[in-house]
Amino acid sequence: MRIVLLGPQGAGKGTQAQRISERVGAKHISTGDLVRAEIKSGSQLGEKIKDYNDRGELVPDEIIIQMMRPYLDEADSWILDGFPRNESQAEALDEMLSEIEAELDAAIALEAPDEVLIKRLSGRRTSEATGRIYHVEHDPPPENGDEDPGPFVQRKDDTEEALRHRLKIYHQHTEPLKSYYADKGILATVDATKEIPRVNEDILEAVEEQP
Ligand code: AMP
Repeated sequence: MRIVLLGPQGAGKGTQAQRISERVGAKHISTGDLVRAEIKSGSQLGEKIKDYNDRGELVPDEIIIQMMRPYLDEADSWILDGFPRNESQAEALDEMLSEIEAELDAAIALEAPDEVLIKRLSGRRTSEATGRIYHVEHDPPPENGDEDPGPFVQRKDDTEEALRHRLKIYHQHTEPLKSYYADKGILATVDATKEIPRVNEDILEAVEEQP
């Protein structure tokens, strides 16, 4: 399985990719997680990309491509979450795929209105111990520390200001990728306002329906 998950911040790409990866054994490659891990490591590269991340700006294409490429080569089966984010990244992905003689099975676009997304993201918390994503209301972090000790933290770029900026970038640069993949005949759209398990089923069904 090789799929791309498209969708605005808060549509649930990370949550869904995580669940699909647990169900079908495909590797979950999140460029956002790679970016945050690099920043946390305190490396020179991390220093360089920190500002982009904190402001909700896209990290330059060549840096992102260089960061994610090894993960793409490593696994036969993967779900890309957060990449590609614009047309030049989509073209770079096509090139990388042709180099490893592989093809995308599907591009799944998760869809939800901006106001729903902003509401959702203000409740998002990530476990520093496991990387798992929770929501204070819909999927609260466990109280029993054995399951996931946390701490459960809010991302810097989940403030309303950064969020509105990230959504604007999504609509300007990432959303046009829907036509990019529709033209290739591999786009499916999924209503991301439904409950998490239902969205999960809809994604898997959409992948199966692809030619
Ligand atoms: P995310 O968790 O996917 O929202 O990503 C968090 C941040 O990481 C973004 O706001 C960007 O600064 C950076 N980032 C993640 N993926 C990409 C990408 N494909 N291209 C450029 N920047 C990215």
